[in-house]
Amino acid sequence: MAKPRPTKRILDSYTIKGSNKVVKPGDCVLMRPPDSSKPPYVARVESIEAGGRGSNVKVRVRWYYRPEESIGGRRQFHGAKEVFLSDHYDIQSADTIEGKCFVHSFKKYTKLDAVGNEDFFCRFEYKSATGSFVPDRIAVFCKCEMPYNPDDLMIQCEECSDWYHPSCVGMKIEEAKKLEHFFCESCSPENGKKSEKSHSATRQTEQKVDSKRRRR
Ligand SMILES: [Zn+2]
Ligand SMILES: [Zn+2]
Repeated sequence: MAKPRPTKRILDSYTIKGSNKVVKPGDCVLMRPPDSSKPPYVARVESIEAGGRGSNVKVRVRWYYRPEESIGGRRQFHGAKEVFLSDHYDIQSADTIEGKCFVHSFKKYTKLDAVGNEDFFCRFEYKSATGSFVPDRIAVFCKCEMPYNPDDLMIQCEECSDWYHPSCVGMKIEEAKKLEHFFCESCSPENGKKSEKSHSATRQTEQKVDSKRRRR
């Protein structure tokens, strides 16, 4: 007796063409954009289904937007690997999946030892129709009162605990990396003078002033 041929089938997984990488619902993927000069699209796979003959696999995805794809565009505090989880869903051919990727929480991203090509982070949800973000307010730091961009080195004042961009306190990045102690302008014991620099390398090696990346 011939089996009835279903028009579509829900699949548990899909193996990316030309690789042994398996994509499952919930995984994040990079998808080839129609314009090949553009960076790949980032998406989260919601479900996978096959057409009747097992070929023609389609994925239902929820798009992540890159800052430049959002209505407000890229802002200074957006990280190079920042993406926004949008409310925009689509059905795409699984053929356009180029590879897998990881969209980390902001906290987890700032703790990564190394950021690979496949690593992204998301701290905002994005409403594609209105261009609005959830949350619509986030903590700001430094004199410039900007949200934290995890690509930028920041140094913490030992007194008030606020974080500063070296450039905003008149310091070079190399200088900031060598600092052992930092007091911001308002907390500086020398009243506005730069904090003491590091001494000899044989001293206590534990760095008091750490990049914000390793905070928390
Ligand atoms: Zn600043
Ligand atoms: Zn301070």
